[in-house]
Amino acid sequence: MISEGPSAAIESDPGTHVRGIAASPIGSSRRLPWQRRHGFFLHLAGCFVSVFLAAAFVDYFNQGWAETNFIWLANGLLLAYLLLAPHWRWAAYLCAGSVAQLSAGFLAHGNCDLLDAVCAALNVSEVLMAALLLRQRSAQLPRFTDRAYLVRFLGYAVLAAPAVTGLLFTFPMVAWRHSTPWHAFIGWAGVDALGMAAVTPTVVAIFQARFRSAKQWRKNWIYLALLAVVTIAALLQTSVPVLPLAFPLLIMILLGLGLGWAALATLLVAALRGWFAIRSRNPSTMPIPGDGTAISLQLQAFVVAAMLMLYIVSVVLEKKRATELHLRKIAAQHNLVTENSRDVIILADLEGRRTFISPAAEILTGWKLDQLLKQKSIDLVHPDDQAMVKAARAELVYKTEGSILEYRIRKVNDEYIWVQASLRVIRDADSGQPSGLLNMVRDITERKQAEQQLQDAFHAMEMLAVMDGLTGLPNRRRFDQCLVSEWRRALRDRRPLSLLVIDADLFKSYNDNYGHLGGDSCLRQIAEAAQEVVTRPGDLVARFGGEEFAVILPSTGNMGAMQVATEVCAAIRHRNLSHAASPYGIMTISVGCATMVPKLGQHAEDLIQMADEALYKAKRTGRNHVSNANAFDRILNKSQTDTLSSTANNQNR
Ligand code: GH3
Ligand code: MG
Ligand code: MG
Repeated sequence: MISEGPSAAIESDPGTHVRGIAASPIGSSRRLPWQRRHGFFLHLAGCFVSVFLAAAFVDYFNQGWAETNFIWLANGLLLAYLLLAPHWRWAAYLCAGSVAQLSAGFLAHGNCDLLDAVCAALNVSEVLMAALLLRQRSAQLPRFTDRAYLVRFLGYAVLAAPAVTGLLFTFPMVAWRHSTPWHAFIGWAGVDALGMAAVTPTVVAIFQARFRSAKQWRKNWIYLALLAVVTIAALLQTSVPVLPLAFPLLIMILLGLGLGWAALATLLVAALRGWFAIRSRNPSTMPIPGDGTAISLQLQAFVVAAMLMLYIVSVVLEKKRATELHLRKIAAQHNLVTENSRDVIILADLEGRRTFISPAAEILTGWKLDQLLKQKSIDLVHPDDQAMVKAARAELVYKTEGSILEYRIRKVNDEYIWVQASLRVIRDADSGQPSGLLNMVRDITERKQAEQQLQDAFHAMEMLAVMDGLTGLPNRRRFDQCLVSEWRRALRDRRPLSLLVIDADLFKSYNDNYGHLGGDSCLRQIAEAAQEVVTRPGDLVARFGGEEFAVILPSTGNMGAMQVATEVCAAIRHRNLSHAASPYGIMTISVGCATMVPKLGQHAEDLIQMADEALYKAKRTGRNHVSNANAFDRILNKSQTDTLSSTANNQNR
């Protein structure tokens, strides 16, 4: 009967709005077809029988030999049915409960007077009032482990409803039974309040209880058996007070089989004990010496104490279970994230000892997790990156809260991959002190490769921008940049700077004779020959334009420059490139050579102009030789010429 309580009725009611049905412990799938068809009537019958038994149980004690009820169980029981049923079934449950209470009263007193009818009406009103106040919205199942709900329950069902009906009860009691108002009020309100407080949450727990699996039963049946032994021992003798042993056993039943069985066991122990006490009015066998009132009070006190104890423990258990569920959910989410994340998640203590590595590490590195945990993380870092990683880690806790590093790590096959590591300090939630490190490692090899390709392409573009495509020499742009920077350096260091301007002789005729491709090839030969001669680091051979070349000779005096120029001239001649239109029969070049020690107010263009003038002088004077601008330049005075010569003499060319 109890296992198929009103929660099952709620499930079978079509169109119900009550939440938590799916979570209801008594799944409709486990119910037989006839149970589904006649479910409501079964529950109604269950309600009638249980309210009748609860009322009869208390009435029976009250009859004749127990003047004081301590607790009224029936209303708490009926309220539990109402709280678990849809609104539109309340009338039926209230009728069943009311008839059950009247029948129990009739059974106890042998008649049914007007006061019994008033009591039944007040009982129904009290339960309805409490239920209406508690369940204004239909979509709400009782949750006694929720603090807000519990406060509302205590306010409405335990205080307000019994107080109102208690007040109404005082009138007939004072009028008909000549009771004092206070006695009448407390005899109703106090007793009902206790009943509501102890019974409703317990009965709801019984209805909602998940009756455990066979495995649980195999493990825990012993406690039920022990409880039976303790109860029987308590009934059969009075010398040893064994009944208190029932409390720890009830706790064990609660832990093993749930609140439903524990509450049921409590009620059974109390019923058994009451029945036994009534049956054996013989004082020598009565476990509790004294009159019926004392027995009644003690039995009811036992029920209240046991149920409150069970209820309090189940609130704690429920909280623990909710916390565990919450933690399990978090753990499941955590596992889902860590197991499916392509990033590796690493937790470590402040000394760098890793306490957790997510499975993605195996995919990323090829190392097994236990292999990774055994070795120091720094050993996997590329030797070139180790210093940077160590420095960042050292700064982490004391200077920064987190940092993002990019470095290479070694895979199991000794290949290196690029990773980005986001390091963060983990702080203790309470003290705020650093307690560990979180490291999220991501494979960025592809990005790095793309970056490298981009950089290479950029360098290639840069090279192309400053290289001459035909000869492979630096072009005019590179020449200009280099000349300006060398000019500045020479100005700063007061060092001489020399420039050679080279021009292929009669090149137009060469083109005419040998074609432009032949001319191109000749230009490449001139470039090669010049590069063979100009080998000192810092010197630069560039294509100046057309068939002209230029050589920058930093820190080179005029004599040295003349020497280089003469060697370049000779090198071309030695190549012996036939040139039919030339008076020499071979390709020759003319060179203009100029040297300056730059001064403020002078410019690099001045040096070019000097060298150019010298070149044209060489052209005018028969080609195939070097003309020295410094030999005829008016700009240079005697002392400058001396400086240039002495510097040149010091050159080791
Ligand atoms: P000079 O001895 O006085 O310098 O006479 P030149 O014929 O060398 O001088 P000019 O300035 O009259 O002719 C230069 C020629 O160089 C004209 C041009 O067609 C040729 N030239 C310039 N750049 C290139 C090139 O890249 N390839 C080839 N094949 N010819 C070029
Ligand atoms: Mg020219
Ligand atoms: Mg020329």
